[in-house]
Amino acid sequence: MSKQTMEFQAETKRLLDLVINSIYTNKEIFLRELISNASDAIDKLHFESLTNHDILDNNAEYEIFIVPDAESKTITISDNGIGMTRDEVITNIGTIAKSGTKAFLEQLKENGGDSTEELIGQFGVGFYSAFIVADKVTLITRKAGQDNNSAVKWESDGTGEFTIEECEKETRGTAITLHLKSEFTEGEDNFTESHNIERLVKKYSDYIRYPIKMNFEVTDKDDKDKKTIEVRTVNSMQPLWTKNKADIKPEEYNDFFKHQFHEWEEPLEVYHTKAEGTIEYTALLCIPKKAPMDLYYSNFEPGLQLYSRHVFIMDKCKDFLPDYLRFMKGLVDSPDLPLNISRELLQQSREVKKIGKALEKNILKQLAKMLSADRQKYEQFWHEYGKSFKIGIYNDAFTGQTAKDLKDLLIFQSSNEGKFSTLAEYVTRMKPDQDKIYYAAAKDAKTIEQLPQMELLKDRGIEVIYLFDPVDEFTLEALHEYDGKHFQSISREDFKLDDEEAKTAQKQIDDLAKDNEALLKDVKEALKDKVTEVKLTSQLKSGAVCLVTGAHGPSLIMEKTFEAMNNPFFKASKILEINPNHAIFNKLKEAHGTDGFNDFCDLLYCQALLIEGILPDNHVELANKIADLMTK
Ligand code: ADP
Repeated sequence: MSKQTMEFQAETKRLLDLVINSIYTNKEIFLRELISNASDAIDKLHFESLTNHDILDNNAEYEIFIVPDAESKTITISDNGIGMTRDEVITNIGTIAKSGTKAFLEQLKENGGDSTEELIGQFGVGFYSAFIVADKVTLITRKAGQDNNSAVKWESDGTGEFTIEECEKETRGTAITLHLKSEFTEGEDNFTESHNIERLVKKYSDYIRYPIKMNFEVTDKDDKDKKTIEVRTVNSMQPLWTKNKADIKPEEYNDFFKHQFHEWEEPLEVYHTKAEGTIEYTALLCIPKKAPMDLYYSNFEPGLQLYSRHVFIMDKCKDFLPDYLRFMKGLVDSPDLPLNISRELLQQSREVKKIGKALEKNILKQLAKMLSADRQKYEQFWHEYGKSFKIGIYNDAFTGQTAKDLKDLLIFQSSNEGKFSTLAEYVTRMKPDQDKIYYAAAKDAKTIEQLPQMELLKDRGIEVIYLFDPVDEFTLEALHEYDGKHFQSISREDFKLDDEEAKTAQKQIDDLAKDNEALLKDVKEALKDKVTEVKLTSQLKSGAVCLVTGAHGPSLIMEKTFEAMNNPFFKASKILEINPNHAIFNKLKEAHGTDGFNDFCDLLYCQALLIEGILPDNHVELANKIADLMTK
């Protein structure tokens, strides 16, 4: 049959038009698409050869060959796969059968023309992506299993028509030659340059199961003018994650993560899981030893790499893991996910959700194991990523599911020798009549240990959890309780020890407060811009004063956090508590009604602030008042 000119199907025409005219930035993906097609064609041949061995014609050496050629300004990608008959070429290449492409066009209809570039990136356009870089494409293909050299030549400039004619080809399979647009024959995007192509193959197609071969010119060691051509396989072919776990050495995992994810150090933990069931997938994940600097910044892009049948599909796929696992690195390879899935479709994919849930569950299980088996390593993990869990609980306070999942993985330092402790461990050390979990927040352990409220707790041997990170209090408030025991800040108004001794002491204080009602009212008046209340307290032993906040609303640390976030409206309601058993209380009474009363009250308040580690706004004034007092 002689050469025939045919028209593309209307939909194809439209797609080609878009591809050709798009100013798509990620031009290089054409190579991934064509290599992936070549690999599929070999897969198909291999599958058929299982029942029809003759089809191989004694050549089972599968390969994909890439020949970039600067002289002819072309790049040719060939495979010795199944090939196509004339009819197959017309239907496969001339029409759009692929669901991804149909979805692409539908999306395009909805979104209008502006999003073409983005959509091409998401869907991939298979064979047609050749026209991103080529102004003419020639495809020569010979169906496997024929006993003569007859083949088909298809050619098109992508503008609406293609020609098809008979030709000869010595070997089975398909060779696709891209006649490159001039901008792709020089500079950064020079696709006629072997090393550039080698780099792209490694980047996108390293794990293709068949060898991707290229010719490389080698200079003779002894004779610099003598050049020979060497054929080299560019891809590594076997993805590490497809190997048997038992056959992989720890160094191999380490090297893999360093190479694949540009890590400097070996990972803290590696999780390699394979699942075969309703959904088949392999996941290779790691916890990097160090958290990246920008982990908690909005421009940090979490996510896993996604592969389908070892072909790289997408980087930074966020839909597998919850945000609190944003630090995990790794990949998921699943044959149940289509090659050209878009980010939008991925988000809705049931498969992705199922895989993600299973991965999340497994990671938490492994971490729980580490917590009980290797505390030192867990503490190292916690130092890097504990904040992520705490933020996760706070952000999910509404459903509380994250709190349920993570509450047993939280660890805090406490007054129990400053050691890290889980909440469950804290509970085992609670006093028989203790019904609350006590915590204190400050910038460091020393500040907490010197809080005046700590004294009575220490005397009674009651343990207090130390919170140093501003997010900690938010987290405990989101948690509400652990094992039926509520969290109680020792710096809030409602903090009361409730054993008999404390109750008796409180009774005395209540009586004293009544007797000194006028005094307390005047102290409050003197500090009216600073505190909401002034009280006598039974919770202090040798300390003179302390500052607590209302039972609800922001704490002092929360107020500072809000201020740092430029949100100065969330103020803590501050309550000044005075120890009536301290000598200073008598001095206060003496000062009552004198000129120095206001200064005396202010000094009391400033002391309380300093104890909390907070510098009073009027620190110069404070210093002057102290000087005055000392010279009196
Ligand atoms: P997809 O590969 O996603 O189906 P393409 O547009 O890339 O979509 O290719 C369309 C069809 O053309 C393929 O399904 C396949 O049947 C055929 N095809 C493409 N490349 C080759 C090849 N190298 N060898 C054999 N058939 C091919």
